[in-house]
Amino acid sequence: MRIARFLAAGQVHYGIVEGDHLAAISGRPWEGLTVTGETFPLAEVRLLAPVEPPDVFAIGLNYKSHAAESAMELPKAPVIFLKAASSVTGPEEPVVLPAMAPDEVDYEAELAIVIGRPCRKVTEAEALDYVLGYTCGNDVSARDCQLKLDTQWARGKSFETFCPLGPWIETDLDPENAEISLKLNGEEMQHSNTQHMIFPCRYLVSYLSQVTTLRPGSVIMTGTPEGVGFSRKPQVFLRSGDRMEVSIQGIGTLANPVSAEQ
Ligand code: MG
Repeated sequence: MRIARFLAAGQVHYGIVEGDHLAAISGRPWEGLTVTGETFPLAEVRLLAPVEPPDVFAIGLNYKSHAAESAMELPKAPVIFLKAASSVTGPEEPVVLPAMAPDEVDYEAELAIVIGRPCRKVTEAEALDYVLGYTCGNDVSARDCQLKLDTQWARGKSFETFCPLGPWIETDLDPENAEISLKLNGEEMQHSNTQHMIFPCRYLVSYLSQVTTLRPGSVIMTGTPEGVGFSRKPQVFLRSGDRMEVSIQGIGTLANPVSAEQ
């Protein structure tokens, strides 16, 4: 099942994707999936980020190939960081190069987990029962802030618009075997499979649930594979007018243009 959040006639709704229509539901998807009877043509609505997460957790260096290209040691446990919830944006919304740090902004295609019910101290075996579904994410990162200027990652990962999510939440996905890719201006820059994660989704949910209560709607960005811009020779950073497309097999494509801050 695909669950979208969308704007139609000035109102925000959640709905279930049914062919070329959306069947609106009452409340939020983790409160039950009761359809209201109202339907909207998919082509006529504006898709929004599929959740407004209370927290956005993120995992660094979760693919061996990306740890290698970053010249970092393989982590012995998940490397957890946070992105500001206010950095979330939706499909086709511009990622804005911040005036404060416009020069080294980079893309990161990631599978994003959406939590479906309160989750605290769960085992790996039961962890995925707490997941509502999965969506495409882009862990946009200002590398100068992240790697050179600051001693930790909060600012470089949290600028407004630095967390595109969408186009919808897919509830029926094997998160441990999905092709993932990112195209920049039509050219494939990243391509891998989620089977190459060092710590798979069930491990991440269980591990994070030992730290804190994962609340419904919370998002876990599960790390990016190789091919990011700062590791390339020459390096590639985002410029105004660029277009990014994150695709995950079984979910779809999340596309975002890039623009300069006005
Ligand atoms: Mg990342």
